Amino acid sequence: MAEDAERLEETGEEEELPESVETVEKPDISEKKERKPRSNPLGMIFNLRMLRRVVQIVFLLGINAYIFTAWFGAEYITAFWTSIRDIFPSIPILSPLEAPFAVISGSFDTMQRTFTSGFFPFFTIGSMIIILIFVGRAPCGWICPLGTIQDFVTLPKRTKVRPAPGTEIELRKFKFYIFVITAGLAVWLGVSVTMGSEATLEAILGIFATDAFAPLNPAYILFKILPDLQSAGLWPTSIGTLWYITQWGFALLQLAFVIFVFFLSIWVPRWFCRWLCPAGWLYSVFSREALIGIGRNPARCTPDTCNVCEVVCPMNIRIRKYPYQHMHSPDCIMCLDCKSHCPNDAIIIRFS
Ligand code: SF4
Ligand code: SF4
Repeated sequence: MAEDAERLEETGEEEELPESVETVEKPDISEKKERKPRSNPLGMIFNLRMLRRVVQIVFLLGINAYIFTAWFGAEYITAFWTSIRDIFPSIPILSPLEAPFAVISGSFDTMQRTFTSGFFPFFTIGSMIIILIFVGRAPCGWICPLGTIQDFVTLPKRTKVRPAPGTEIELRKFKFYIFVITAGLAVWLGVSVTMGSEATLEAILGIFATDAFAPLNPAYILFKILPDLQSAGLWPTSIGTLWYITQWGFALLQLAFVIFVFFLSIWVPRWFCRWLCPAGWLYSVFSREALIGIGRNPARCTPDTCNVCEVVCPMNIRIRKYPYQHMHSPDCIMCLDCKSHCPNDAIIIRFS
């Protein structure tokens, strides 16, 4: 076990086990009632899970906060959001730069667009690395709108599907392949722009020219393409205008993909984050040695008889295989679900 842990610490890999798919029942949270009261008397109010849900909702609305200024039209609200945008133009989440109501964009989205414009995104990459080194992938767990929607759709369903570790490792490779293809195309296009020879490449790439991931990016489809359809007067507002949908063309397939992403998330928590998101892969590279992370108290943790932390982990991380002192998993999004559910209060937040 100790050797396993050391190997995992060095490689960051997870142990391969025989292929199978487990269906896991979420632990009954009501069992917590039998636990000893925690030292924090305000635990009921400052419940971690509740706090995260509130933060997620605030950011889901806040990231597209210009929509409120569009409704209320108040200039001071616009000025307020613009000042926020000036301080945090991009953070490590998935949020399209061109979304009409977006206050903050995702670092990956901004990088893609900057590259394809023929510039190098120094500021975006620098700020992204600083954020990830300090808080790891906490923006994925607490802020990213796509992560938030996946978390909320998965809430009512107690039975989750967890692929076996070997299958999970293979599926996670997809996001790396998507990253290589989309980032590679962005850099290629950027070089072509600086050389003035981009016209042919843009013609070949078509809708994939400005940002190769955008047409498949659920955040881009939700926050850019759907508002654009509304602006174009193509949203059906009555039975008589339902036929407008036939005018949507490729956007119809894109919307079907978004619905599929959220539908599958009911049973497979955050499957898009785990297997497909190229931004998530990029962020994981810089968050592996983040200053903030998860550890386990060896005096309290009973890994041979309990696996609650792994069952509730939305990223399907095999937490017990990592060293007690610090779990350096590049997939950890610091959601703290393991901490909230641990029956022995063994999960600790580490700063190192
Ligand atoms: S991995 Fe998930 S939470 Fe992180 S940027 Fe991608 S979609 Fe958002
Ligand atoms: S290890 Fe814990 S904090 Fe990290 S993603 Fe899993 S449940 Fe969340």
